[in-house]
Amino acid sequence: MITRISNGVNPLDATRGRQKQLIVGNWKMNPRTVAEARKIVSSIKAAVGSLKKTDVVVCPPSVFLGDLVVNGSTRLAFGTQNVHFEKDGAFTGEISVAMIASLKAKYVILGHSERREMGETDDLIAKKVHAALEAGLSVILCVGEKERDPECAYLDIMKSQIEASLHGIPKNMLAKLIIAYEPVWAIGAKAKGVVLPEELLETIIFIRKILSGMYDQPSAHAMKILYGGSVDENNAGSFMKEGGAAGLLVGRASVEAKKFVGILKVAESL
Ligand code: PEP
Repeated sequence: MITRISNGVNPLDATRGRQKQLIVGNWKMNPRTVAEARKIVSSIKAAVGSLKKTDVVVCPPSVFLGDLVVNGSTRLAFGTQNVHFEKDGAFTGEISVAMIASLKAKYVILGHSERREMGETDDLIAKKVHAALEAGLSVILCVGEKERDPECAYLDIMKSQIEASLHGIPKNMLAKLIIAYEPVWAIGAKAKGVVLPEELLETIIFIRKILSGMYDQPSAHAMKILYGGSVDENNAGSFMKEGGAAGLLVGRASVEAKKFVGILKVAESL
């Protein structure tokens, strides 16, 4: 377990900084109706009013976005789970960054493992990251290994994933970039386990080292790094406290208002 990064530096301050926690809900392809979606948002809305140390983002299916933004609140930000990199044109079924921005959504999740599984490459993700940042959206870029091998080859895989997904992104576009470390083996109903807080802390330090090599230390230090993978009200605190995450990307538990609000309360209590 890592207890020190360098002389006298508290590893949690060094990894997390002193920013507000950011809790993001990735609803995936849920719920089934806009009426259910409104109900979840209304419960979250009731909870966010009292939060002082926690920022909250909900990323519903984009078909619900316009409705939910209107029924949301200024304390609750919205995002999408994907975007196309072109500004407009003949791309049937796709949505552009301008469309998202025009609905007052501020965030977009990119590079999620479920989309990578559908064929998204790092090259494509880099184009999307560029388009979204250029349009002024905040990007939550998901990275993470499929498995943790004892030889630690997964660290090289993650390094190349980060470098390729950020290819061509200049330092002056980093202010709205957030990294979400999402180990694929810890995500979703088929998760094989959860990351231990000390493993998370090590990984976050590793990610910052990669970013520092690509850009510089201050940029790497300033970046928010979230954790995602089987987060619930019981384990949420450990990922942010001992694990050094600046917040969480929550999947399944984010469409259950009671559980999501429970996670928000944990974040607020840290
Ligand atoms: C996700 O899909 O981003 C995720 C973290 O899922 P879950 O919380 O359900 O593991």
